Amino acid sequence: MNDSKGEISRRELLQKLSPLGKVSLDTTKCTGCGLCAQECPTGALTVLLNEESDTFRLLFKHGICVACGQCVEVCPEKCLQVERLLEPDKIDGQSVLFEDEIARCSRCGGPIGPKSMIEKLQARMTAAGHALTPQLGLCPDCKVQTQFDHLIGKNGHIS
Ligand code: SF4
Ligand code: SF4
Repeated sequence: MNDSKGEISRRELLQKLSPLGKVSLDTTKCTGCGLCAQECPTGALTVLLNEESDTFRLLFKHGICVACGQCVEVCPEKCLQVERLLEPDKIDGQSVLFEDEIARCSRCGGPIGPKSMIEKLQARMTAAGHALTPQLGLCPDCKVQTQFDHLIGKNGHIS
């Protein structure tokens, strides 16, 4: 905001001149789908799956965000915002925008994705009147394997 002498605040100046962007996120809406990180052209947004601590993290590097807005465009939950802003003390750092537990495959125990994503998918299927199948709790490899097992049946012949 301009002050009484027509001067602009330091934040406004940093916004006007900044070549960098700052991304913020509504954690109550994010499902951790990772699409924003997939589309980010600079790698400012990345996904980290830590299997030791069973955590999913969406990470943001201010120093390489060019404020292009592609992450905002692609987010299916509309929970991202980007502003042109320079925060000198955060240029070298990395912040955690979203964190969740990892859901695991009920067959092999491998990681499927963030729990929020699976829960949201289940809630949407229920709301749409679809039955929840055990397939939802499987990783892609186990989904294929269970379909294959079903096809060949117990006697080893394709049914
Ligand atoms: S911010 Fe949006 S696109 Fe990114 S992980 Fe969350 S829901 Fe997905
Ligand atoms: S605004 Fe552009 S560069 Fe910045 S995080 Fe989003 S997609 Fe990446």
